[in-house]
Amino acid sequence: MIERVKGTRDILPDEINRWQFLEDQARDVFSLYGFREIRTPIFESTELFQRGIGAGTDIVAKEMYTFPDRKGRSLTLRPENTAPVARAYIEHQMHRRSEIERLYYIGPMFRYERPQKGRMRQFSQIGVEVFGSDHPVIDAETLQMLVLYLDRIGIRPVSVTLNSVGCEACRPRYREILRGYLQPHRDRMCGDCRRRIEVNPLRCFDCKVAADRELLARADTIQDHLCDACRDHFAAVKAHLERLGVPFDLDPRLVRGLDYYCRTTFEVSLAGLGAQNALLGGGRYDGLVKSLGGPPVPAFGFAVGEDRLVLSLPENADIPESSPDVYMISLGEKALQHAPAMAARLRSGRRRVVLDPMPGKSLRSQMRKANDLGARFVLILGEQEIASGRYTLKRMSDGAQVEIDETGMAAQLEEMIRA
Ligand code: AMP
Repeated sequence: MIERVKGTRDILPDEINRWQFLEDQARDVFSLYGFREIRTPIFESTELFQRGIGAGTDIVAKEMYTFPDRKGRSLTLRPENTAPVARAYIEHQMHRRSEIERLYYIGPMFRYERPQKGRMRQFSQIGVEVFGSDHPVIDAETLQMLVLYLDRIGIRPVSVTLNSVGCEACRPRYREILRGYLQPHRDRMCGDCRRRIEVNPLRCFDCKVAADRELLARADTIQDHLCDACRDHFAAVKAHLERLGVPFDLDPRLVRGLDYYCRTTFEVSLAGLGAQNALLGGGRYDGLVKSLGGPPVPAFGFAVGEDRLVLSLPENADIPESSPDVYMISLGEKALQHAPAMAARLRSGRRRVVLDPMPGKSLRSQMRKANDLGARFVLILGEQEIASGRYTLKRMSDGAQVEIDETGMAAQLEEMIRA
């Protein structure tokens, strides 16, 4: 037997409702704020990610699914979607169409990581990107939208963990200060941190090793070294969030794994998720579009891990039903001659009707099937019913039943549903 590849999953029909619910709500909430969907390819030129995410990041260094095509060009399954969306934004000259462009996407990403609960090699992200403004109102409104979305799907209360990581004017200087602080302790730090000190010492803040964390707890943070413009921007973001009632906590040691971030960065973590507790992350990346060869357009965005959202949905989430309204029970071949037309009539009233041709099966076994499917009603068609033109509609929850006839069938069903 051929099995699915490690780190991938099948989402079976029994669980698909949760996924569709999350996606429908995302589309609905994001559209309230003027976001429109974009769908980009799931593979891109490898160079896009090397340039867009940064060659020194874990993603690019260790986690990409990269392969040559038949002509030897290097392609990569997208490990994230900000660089691809920025690529499409540039390629289609979207900055010419409108000054501010709000886009969202939903789809699979691929990273070669060690699989565990909440960490897959193919996983899905729901993300948004705003291009064209560095105004703090963009940061605050997009965060408000995010919290509204989480609230809509029943994930509440959440607090956004917030920081500013500075800009090209102030971060390089801070990077040197941090490197200078860590360098004397280098030999006692973990292998990852030793590498990070060279490549990008800010990433040491992501280290999970206790001794390294203690050392970093005593280091200056970027907050001590923001330039005036970044300090003002961050103050304005916080003031807008307060006015909007968006709850947040400050963490001056929050740095995000990707190179393209500047100024506002944020994450939301949930305790219930276990070791992989980061539900989402995002921030501002004013330099990315230009670094990919586009105009100097600032941008802001976030990506939510959909797999982790599904794991975090509360038991009582308001997920719409997809089980049948009516299960048709046809007793005998004669009944089956009538059943499809009746089912079609009920469906024209927008009701979900399932008809399984099993003429030899008993009433009892077909009732059991209706129950397994979670049908709300059964419509029973036997020889006698067909001869008389009167059929039995039975409610599964309490066994209540009414006789209905063919012409008034759809209306009678509605009446029964409302009752
Ligand atoms: P990142 O692009 O790394 O900032 O990730 C954003 C979000 O995507 C994370 O907070 C996770 O919820 C989700 N995510 C990232 N990597 C994985 C993975 N390997 N499996 C499942 N979800 C992931």
